[in-house]
Amino acid sequence: MPFVFTALVPHAPASLDSLAGTQVALLKKTREAMTKLSFEIYAAKPDVLLVLSPHGKILEDAVSINTAPEFEGNLETFGDHGTRCVYPGAVGFAHQIKEPLETRYHIALIHEPVLDYGTTIPLLHLLRDNRIPLVPIYPSLRSLDEHFAIGTELQETILKTNKRIAIVVTGDLAHHHHADAQKKKRKGETSEAARLFDTRIQALLVKRDSEALLAIPGEEMVASGSCLFRPLALFLGIVRHINFTVETLAYEIAQDVGYVTMYFQLL
Ligand SMILES: [Zn+2]
Repeated sequence: MPFVFTALVPHAPASLDSLAGTQVALLKKTREAMTKLSFEIYAAKPDVLLVLSPHGKILEDAVSINTAPEFEGNLETFGDHGTRCVYPGAVGFAHQIKEPLETRYHIALIHEPVLDYGTTIPLLHLLRDNRIPLVPIYPSLRSLDEHFAIGTELQETILKTNKRIAIVVTGDLAHHHHADAQKKKRKGETSEAARLFDTRIQALLVKRDSEALLAIPGEEMVASGSCLFRPLALFLGIVRHINFTVETLAYEIAQDVGYVTMYFQLL
């Protein structure tokens, strides 16, 4: 089995010391969960890490595979000019996974050495060894079903390799957790709709109910503000029929956004 590590993690700026400011205590459980996962991924000794992020270069019609030979993660968009990490790219493997896909789907190879924050923030938490070669993959704006199908095709290729593959899918749950409360000027109360949405998505993830997750209507995805669904659909395709347990390591709300950290422990 080439899969050695899989997890769903958030990309919360406030989870990093340099960006948390006075809110450093906000995402304590998330930080602890990421630290736990960092030990797991280190122990798993992957040859390649696929990172599925919704915030890279998004092409409307094509899922993008980033083939840069070296990546830089920085936090300059947030005004942090001190954080900079360098990671190698898994160029050969990126080409290998693209080939079987391109005859049936819209797939683009891109060359973007600077990583998006959706990829950078998880990597800053998760990687104790920055020498693990990466393949960042970004969704398109096409349907969840198509992303799932691309994921299943990716699985076929991965299952044929003798490499040890880790996968990190990253996304946040509902935004606007305090929106209703702000409207009503009742500080501290959270939005019932956002809370229910987060609860439902987590329950579906724990049950691994891909069908229900793929059937979430587009309007509901947009209304929730969640950026998770397209990378998640790719992920669900990649791990279809793979046995693992699902453990929720953390769920927290910070700065109006729901953040879940889940470990999919392979059996
Ligand atoms: Zn996001």
